[in-house]
Amino acid sequence: MQALVRARLLDSHCHLPASALASERDSRWPGLDLPDTGRYFCNTTCEPEWRVALNLAGPESAIIPFLGIHPWFAETVTPGWERRLLLLLQKNPAGLGETGLDKSCPVNFDRQQQVFLAQLSMAVELHRPLVIHCVKAWGRLLEILEALAAPRPAIMLHSFSGSLEIMQRLLALGCFISFSPRLISNRQLHPLFIAAPLTRLLLETDTACHPSRPDPPPEATTISHLYQVAAALRGIPLPEFSQQVWNNGKIFAHTILPR
Ligand SMILES: [Zn+2]
Repeated sequence: MQALVRARLLDSHCHLPASALASERDSRWPGLDLPDTGRYFCNTTCEPEWRVALNLAGPESAIIPFLGIHPWFAETVTPGWERRLLLLLQKNPAGLGETGLDKSCPVNFDRQQQVFLAQLSMAVELHRPLVIHCVKAWGRLLEILEALAAPRPAIMLHSFSGSLEIMQRLLALGCFISFSPRLISNRQLHPLFIAAPLTRLLLETDTACHPSRPDPPPEATTISHLYQVAAALRGIPLPEFSQQVWNNGKIFAHTILPR
């Protein structure tokens, strides 16, 4: 357990807890008690969250903000959203996310594509890392990404659950593959996780930024537990494994991380 306490753990995809959104006016997150050895890629899903995430970030903060419109919220954007997002990105070291395509939700798919493509262009133009959510839309997503001229932005497929063939096509494009606690609940992901190159792996909770916050359900998997399971699956000592994922996160987000 000692190694766990000392290891630097990256949560490569998490979200703002409801408490931070409720206290939007606070520039600091009240009661936030992040271990100083952690780093959190904190994603947003809709316009009102952008400012909150930016307020939590800063040169000394463990929270790295990602601003985006999630496909579930593609129909909630208000006129001028692209310009507002672009301005915030130009002024702040932030990535783009969470965005993507999701055919399992009732949101108009043409609208999802418009909103996703706008964010993808910003990632290309500003050299920002991009976090993609993809559900039942792999064909269209791969078509878009494979048509993208190099150099492509750094791309993470979050909570990956596609096939081995899809993963290999994403890897050929230079993408990072992030695994969520589904790795624990769904054994069918194990062969994929083991087949992924160590240099492209990321791990995420996909929940609120800190396991001690009351917002995640009590049974939510902590990032420490996920690292323990993942390191054991790869047969690599935990400190070595967590350092590798930490380094992968640094490469993925190098254009926005503090120097
Ligand atoms: Zn998410």
